[in-house]
Amino acid sequence: MNFGASPPSSDDSGMSSFVENPQYFCGIFKDKDMCVQHIKRQDIVLKWELGEGAFGKVYLAECANLSPDSDKMLVAIKTLKDANESTRQDFQREAELLTVLQHQNIVRFYGVCTDGEPLAMVFEYMRHGDLNRFLRAHGPDAHILEEVKMPPLGQLTLPQMLHIAGQIASGMVYLASLHFVHRDLATRNCLVGDMGEGLMVKIGDFGMSRDIYSTDYYRVGGRTMLPIRWMPPESIMYRKFTTESDIWSFGVVLWEIFTYGKQPWYQLSNSEAIECITQGRELERPRTCPKEVHCLMQGCWQREPQQRLVIKDIHSRLLALVKSPPIYLDILG
Ligand code: ADP
Repeated sequence: MNFGASPPSSDDSGMSSFVENPQYFCGIFKDKDMCVQHIKRQDIVLKWELGEGAFGKVYLAECANLSPDSDKMLVAIKTLKDANESTRQDFQREAELLTVLQHQNIVRFYGVCTDGEPLAMVFEYMRHGDLNRFLRAHGPDAHILEEVKMPPLGQLTLPQMLHIAGQIASGMVYLASLHFVHRDLATRNCLVGDMGEGLMVKIGDFGMSRDIYSTDYYRVGGRTMLPIRWMPPESIMYRKFTTESDIWSFGVVLWEIFTYGKQPWYQLSNSEAIECITQGRELERPRTCPKEVHCLMQGCWQREPQQRLVIKDIHSRLLALVKSPPIYLDILG
């Protein structure tokens, strides 16, 4: 079975290197078990396409023999089109990385399928798709966007927004504990599933993103794409990516959540956004954002990286807010 994906093409000119992350592979996970699970192609039955990734299509599928206590499970399959020697190596390294990253707020990786073409990675299926689409579909402009087909949940409430933010922070606490720098934290790289009554949000993408969000990236020097709107001044000016630059991006993620998925600096072009960020202008406080949350954003956007909040504190402050959400008045609404 070849998953019904289009035949590999020899033209790889469309491939871009997104945010390169040398830290993935420099041996910080040396002591961890890197034994990538292999899943047989015959155990996978494709259902339909879920989306287009940067490196190939993503499908919903049923997978047999994944866990001893269930016969078949729904999974998301990411395929790799145009596999050449170098993309195969990247694929292998990403699979090793994903095997190591295990946490309740990181999307679960089951393994790879490499017996035949296309190469594929098997992930837990997150029913509501990516968080940016989800926010837009549950915001005030849902009716003017395409996303009306989504399940009727109504507009997100403040406790739900805090819950979403808290879960992403929890995933980031875990990544920081491994000294892993994400470099591309954004709502488009988080996924949403269900957990009983509540929402379950997980970080689902590590440094590569997709064509449909290409306007979130700025092409520099030919092939490198940078998510400049999520980057602090030192990353824009010196390509310096650290745990502290991830904190800045987390602040932008908070802003995305409280604007129901708006693009940061949507009113500006890429070069204008760079100008603004490097000059120290801040994103405006979203209308639905309590001052406690705005304070957190500002703590993430300190110009001096060492002055920024640390993820553990952000996480605990968000948990405290989830427990007792602030009362706020939307004075404009
Ligand atoms: P890539 O990282 O290769 O660019 P993405 O992760 O962006 O691929 O996936 C493309 C689309 O597929 C996303 O918009 C998302 O809606 C969907 N998708 C990806 N992974 C999952 C998953 N585990 N569960 C459900 N949908 C997914």
